Amino acid sequence: MVSRRTVLTGAGVALGGGAAVAAGYRAWRDREPASPPTQDAQGRLLWRNWSGIEHAYPAMRLAPQNEEELADMLRAARTPIRPVGAGHSFTGLATTRGALLSLDRMKGLVADDASAVRATFWAGTRLSEVGPALAAIGQEMPNLPDINEQSLAGGVSTATHGTGLAFPALHARITSFRLMLANGEIKECSPTQNQEVFQAALVGLGAFGLITQIELQNDPLGRVLKRTWIASLDETLEQWPTLQAAHRNVEFYAVPFTGYAVIISHDPTDLPVRPRGPDEDADALMQLKQLRDWLGVAPALRRAVAHMAFDNQAPTEAVDEGWKLLSNERPVRFNEMEYHLPLEQQIPALREVVAAIERHRSDVFFPLEARVIRRDDAWLSPFFGRDCGSIAVHAYYKDDHRFLFDLIEPIFQRHGGRPHWGKLHSQSARGLADLYPRFADACALRRELDPEGRLLNEHLRRVFLDDGA
Ligand SMILES: Cc1cc2nc3c(=O)[nH]c(=O)nc-3n(C[C@H](O)[C@H](O)[C@H](O)COP(=O)(O)OP(=O)(O)OC[C@H]3O[C@@H](n4cnc5c(N)ncnc54)[C@H](O)[C@@H]3O)c2cc1C
Repeated sequence: MVSRRTVLTGAGVALGGGAAVAAGYRAWRDREPASPPTQDAQGRLLWRNWSGIEHAYPAMRLAPQNEEELADMLRAARTPIRPVGAGHSFTGLATTRGALLSLDRMKGLVADDASAVRATFWAGTRLSEVGPALAAIGQEMPNLPDINEQSLAGGVSTATHGTGLAFPALHARITSFRLMLANGEIKECSPTQNQEVFQAALVGLGAFGLITQIELQNDPLGRVLKRTWIASLDETLEQWPTLQAAHRNVEFYAVPFTGYAVIISHDPTDLPVRPRGPDEDADALMQLKQLRDWLGVAPALRRAVAHMAFDNQAPTEAVDEGWKLLSNERPVRFNEMEYHLPLEQQIPALREVVAAIERHRSDVFFPLEARVIRRDDAWLSPFFGRDCGSIAVHAYYKDDHRFLFDLIEPIFQRHGGRPHWGKLHSQSARGLADLYPRFADACALRRELDPEGRLLNEHLRRVFLDDGA
């Protein structure tokens, strides 16, 4: 994104004598959050999600190697069961005191259909493994999320998405899947077979059954040109519709307290391969943090120093197969809230969010991510029936993230947003019923498929029944 260490050193000098006092405060704020014990009183081992915000001590860990073992395990388990993928969701979707069930051993390519450009994978396959497996058979997923650590089933179950108005989220490119119910029964689901279960369980939060196999509609393998450049935030907000029309996949990061945005586009190309360089995003983030640490109390100076750092940064370019460029590494941990808004509400909401952060939260330094997603018709898809603009707000994992709920979520809700299922939100069944036209149908079908609620936990009780307390 941006990389000017010297500028930040200059900022330190500018602060002069106050630096010593500030250093103590910074060290205090930079301490690691308390970790839960590695095992509980019964000797059950700790499970944590990626950001560390959720944890549990499951009574059992299950990792079947095939559908027969999975069915046996489901029938034998006397506890509640929660499927987990890569544990990259920020919400309590996977936490359980019962059995934590991973399909990590059910991965890889099952079959492919070259003429239809389709491929079937075991549901535990990570997106990072799907890319090369598809490339080997001349296919690709044309749109991917920001990282590729997710399992296929975990990603689609929360409506994980990339960006580009021509593209829906991952689940909407699924042509069929196999769902194992809590009683071990298998249902083949597609638009023509068990059609209602297909629509409901496609974005199913692991509450309808266990997805074991997924067939993907892909595109023929091709190369893309990735471009990253910096522009003024005001200009970017004004040009956003033009940018969306001009690029296959486009997104931008609004960098608070700077007046700048970082824009990233991916477009099909026949240019020869020019591999991406080393990832500088983590370095850039740490510099934004340093800027916050040193100049958070002096917004005008913070903006002026950012100006020096951002100005005259040359665009960067890379050319390669899409699966090598669309996703990134994210070694700096954070907590995140993302809402999906009606497209026309995205920029007005983003302006409000930036203003609120700049007025009330000088501690925020993570850029805000804006993307666009095409509509689909999965019952619990946040993109059900409408094209969406999403806004994601992040908090460094060591920082207080409660402002996401107090300050940011009300803005998203005022603009008619639906929450990302895998990211922080405070919604429960009552409010969700107003946001999702088929919510009552989905709840009824969930009850039918899992009448004893064996796949529910506290979080899901709140989502589906409003009684998670
Ligand atoms: C650094 C980072 C970057 C991210 N970037 C993006 C992004 O660009 N776009 C985006 O949309 N999201 C993004 N996310 C969110 C992430 O994609 C979702 O939370 C996703 O669900 C995580 O996948 P997972 O494999 O870790 O699933 P988990 O978090 O482990 O589980 C997610 C859900 O899937 C269910 N599940 C898992 N396996 C199965 C199965 N076999 N059958 C049925 N249900 C199952 C679980 O029960 C749970 O409800 C990001 C998250 C992080 C931490």
